[in-house]
Amino acid sequence: MGSLDRCGKEKQVVDCPKCKNVVLLETRLAGELPAARCSQCGGSWLPALAYQQWQRERPNHNASPEHLLNGSYIHLQPSEFDTKACLCPQCRRYLSRTRVESKPPFFLEHCQECEGFWFDAGEWEALRQLGLANSLPELFDPQWQAQFREQQQIQAERQQMIDKLGPDLAQKIVELTDTILDHKNGDFALAYIMRKAVNNPNIENFKDEKIV
Ligand SMILES: [Zn+2]
Ligand SMILES: [Zn+2]
Repeated sequence: MGSLDRCGKEKQVVDCPKCKNVVLLETRLAGELPAARCSQCGGSWLPALAYQQWQRERPNHNASPEHLLNGSYIHLQPSEFDTKACLCPQCRRYLSRTRVESKPPFFLEHCQECEGFWFDAGEWEALRQLGLANSLPELFDPQWQAQFREQQQIQAERQQMIDKLGPDLAQKIVELTDTILDHKNGDFALAYIMRKAVNNPNIENFKDEKIV
């Protein structure tokens, strides 16, 4: 049996990028998407045109960074090959990697030259669970990644505040902060809070916890 080229047609035999001398065999991801699979590691190569055709049939392919942050638990045992760098089975160039910040996280690989994707065993299914299967190129976009990191930081900060103060007080602080920052004389309120804090004997504790 042969392998698939970037048009999804039969082409020369190609080896698994992660295993040595194992030929990729024709398969269909999710029973519909023509790809090439390694019977040894269970990884799959998805040629660009096959993917793009599939993607066009699914109009909703603008996953926001929040999308990944909100529903990030997945059923995946990351492959032992997940962190192994490898060459594109078609172009022989190193595949780019991006870390998908699900729980657990994993690396997705992509060829910048032919634009195909490599999924280690279980990763395609995981991307579908995350609702990201038809937004794969965005995951490699630096602007998308920057937005994602920013959202991740905001979420971590809020979580830290909830852990320290409890959900009710944390919510009040968020609302109060927004109110102060939106107010034309907000600096007056901030100065008042700072004055109270500086004159409070517990200020040393605040310093210890690196709050101020
Ligand atoms: Zn393999
Ligand atoms: Zn390639």
